[in-house]
Amino acid sequence: MRVILLVDMDAFFASVEQQANPALRGKPVGVIGSGKRTVITTASYEARSCGVKTGMNLYEARQVCPELIVVVGDNDKYTHTCRQLKEIYKRFTPLVEVYSVDEAFLDITGSYHLFGSPIEVGKRIKYLIKQSFGINATVGIGPNKLVAKLAADISKPDGLRWIKKEEIPDILEDLPVEQLWGIGRKTAERLRSLGIKTCGQLGRASSGMLRSRFGVLGEHLKAMAQGVDHSPVLPESEDFGDTKSIGHSMTLPRDIYTRTEIDRYLMLLAEMVASRARRYGYEGRVITVIIRYRSFETFSLRKRLSIPTDDTHLIFRTARDIVRSVRLREPVRLIGVSISGLTQGNNQIPLFEEQKRRKRLLNTLDEINTRFGSNTLLWAAALKSDREPGVISPAWRPDGVRRTL
Ligand SMILES: [Mg+2]
Repeated sequence: MRVILLVDMDAFFASVEQQANPALRGKPVGVIGSGKRTVITTASYEARSCGVKTGMNLYEARQVCPELIVVVGDNDKYTHTCRQLKEIYKRFTPLVEVYSVDEAFLDITGSYHLFGSPIEVGKRIKYLIKQSFGINATVGIGPNKLVAKLAADISKPDGLRWIKKEEIPDILEDLPVEQLWGIGRKTAERLRSLGIKTCGQLGRASSGMLRSRFGVLGEHLKAMAQGVDHSPVLPESEDFGDTKSIGHSMTLPRDIYTRTEIDRYLMLLAEMVASRARRYGYEGRVITVIIRYRSFETFSLRKRLSIPTDDTHLIFRTARDIVRSVRLREPVRLIGVSISGLTQGNNQIPLFEEQKRRKRLLNTLDEINTRFGSNTLLWAAALKSDREPGVISPAWRPDGVRRTL
């Protein structure tokens, strides 16, 4: 039986700003994006109590709350805090998945007894966050990520809630489906048109009917409504102690299943990984590919090379061979590539003309991308992807990859 804990910062951006500037404390604060300067990205709880909501434009927000203090968001500040938060979490377990800039999952199955109980872990984390940053967090605990998320959602702000397995059916029975993490508004609407409003109803709905309406997702929806979720807490590959690695993963804009499409993403990821390795002077001997299916089932496969490399093409070809060695059972929603078994500083002088040319090519490519922004120059295999290269999120993802169907 797993014990999963979700830490979710309350009104994170606004709280960080209030902490940085005492004049903002206790006041209604609206943080607006530095890019889209007119939309509220986070409202402090003081602002929420007068009706300010995320997504409102400034005009609307000032209508409901004339005394609103508007602050332009500072992503560096939030990212910095997020990294420090992660250090707190890692005192309790190495299995920390930074899910978004203000949410992290911790798998404390194997470690909570060291601190007493899951609730004790939650209390300590809340205390440490308050002590270090002066901000409130809500902690949800459950037998899986889905339930931990629900526990946090229903006990915000400054909450702490442990939903035990035996409580799940009661809690889910009358819960509107859209309150379940991962069920978006569209899916909820489609379910409503079938007469399904609550998780209780969805959990009892016939599998056959759900499958005919939602395809493979149907089963998944039913399981979710029953509080079932087997998805693992996925720590960043960088966190695995001494086996340092460099990795990137992407949640795809839509699920894909053809080899050609998968190859394009592998190429992009290989280039991201390889260029980062080259920038820091690393070469890796082990290539790992992570695949997450539409059902959230996740697995990784690796292959060891005879010599360490920082070469985009070799990493790509190895990753492609790895993927071709398996029969994909479902459409793919996330792909990741990493290299590990790293060695640094052995920037050997290339002996052969072919190696020299390749090294020069890679260096030139990196220089151009460093100077003009990443992905100015791309490998041809990575083109034609239906996603703009600029919006690919790195494995560490401060802006969050939401799990929404
Ligand atoms: Mg939050």
